[in-house]
Amino acid sequence: MQNATLWRALLGVEKTVVEDIEFDEDAQVLLAHVRVRARAGGRCGRCHRRSPAYDRGEGRRRWRALDLGTVQVMLEAEAPRVNCAEHGPTVVAVPWARHAAGHTRLFDEQVAWLATQCSKSAVVDLMRVAWRTVGAIVTRVWADVEAVHDRFAALERIGIDEISYKRGHKYLTVIVDHATGRLVWAAPGRDQATLHGFFDALGPERAAALTHVSADSASWIANVVTDRAPQAVRCADPFHIVKWATEALDEVRREVWNNARKAAHPRYRGRFQSSTGHAKALKHARFALWKNPENLTRRQRAKLDWIATAEPRVHRAYLLKEGLRLIFQIPPEEAPQALEEWITWARRSRIDAFIALQRSIVRERTAILAAIEHNMSNGRIESVNTKIRLITRIAFGFANPDALTALALLNLGGHRPTLPGRQ
Ligand SMILES: [Zn+2]
Repeated sequence: MQNATLWRALLGVEKTVVEDIEFDEDAQVLLAHVRVRARAGGRCGRCHRRSPAYDRGEGRRRWRALDLGTVQVMLEAEAPRVNCAEHGPTVVAVPWARHAAGHTRLFDEQVAWLATQCSKSAVVDLMRVAWRTVGAIVTRVWADVEAVHDRFAALERIGIDEISYKRGHKYLTVIVDHATGRLVWAAPGRDQATLHGFFDALGPERAAALTHVSADSASWIANVVTDRAPQAVRCADPFHIVKWATEALDEVRREVWNNARKAAHPRYRGRFQSSTGHAKALKHARFALWKNPENLTRRQRAKLDWIATAEPRVHRAYLLKEGLRLIFQIPPEEAPQALEEWITWARRSRIDAFIALQRSIVRERTAILAAIEHNMSNGRIESVNTKIRLITRIAFGFANPDALTALALLNLGGHRPTLPGRQ
């Protein structure tokens, strides 16, 4: 065939003979008849071991390749079976595609790269594939990455967290490496069985090498960590501790707000949705209460000043929340004393939400101080979690949750796909 070298380059194939090119002008599809070069042929599609011929398989097969301009390209070739010593009769390996894939490797790489770079509709429209096909592609691309990179190598300090997806109905358990900020593992579910799945994948030797584990105080996490990595120092995740305090503060604010609303509309108790005056101001103050003081706008600062005089109880709750947050920011050697003082302060606050919080803090005291002593701030992990949340929103619609975790790992596992032909 003429211009064989040019056609191999255009089709993105190696170790391949281009036998014939057909162009269907109406359908705007280019069909390339190809065959594997003799020396690269006769290998098992799963393990690539050279194996004796078995039969013709299902005859000729087609693979979608990258478009040429706006023309869609298909490769067509014989797909005989070989008799592998390990896998039995198996379709022969072809250099241009992964085993059992309907798309070429270059097509897969481009889709995987796009899936980590742009929106769902951009990938689907540009590549002319269904979203579930994108899911299948990222799953097999990640499987190849995983086969050559040991994602558990040198793992010592990990953070364990749960992330909700599908509007809070489903959860992922995620494991992040504190040293690199990489996502190392993710799986659907949030229970002991799910987390045991991580330790099974990790293996006992590497579990024994873990030095620190940070997590929120969920008992299912603590139980499994104590069981599978008893030597690791368990650290409380500061982010979750501060979140508890924010929730306690919000409970106080809502309680006061409800009372103010009832006072404004005694006759419509519970049914009246709009709030006026004082109650409205309280409702609108919630952002000022949630924010860290160093990030407040001038208006929010003014709102906080108003709360200090109008609602001293809410303001005291605010100071308690801030007090707890500061413990994670002062020099570590001062933290134990400061935490004791905070516990006493909260216990005597006569605010139910903070008395309850104080009890949880006492229960988690060792893990909180360990997090401070070993500098196990989860800030980095939180930023990974924020990205995973974005990815789950994109990955919504993958039929298989494995595709969701594959996309998250491709994005955040430290081995992002590259565009074909660019290295
Ligand atoms: Zn094989």
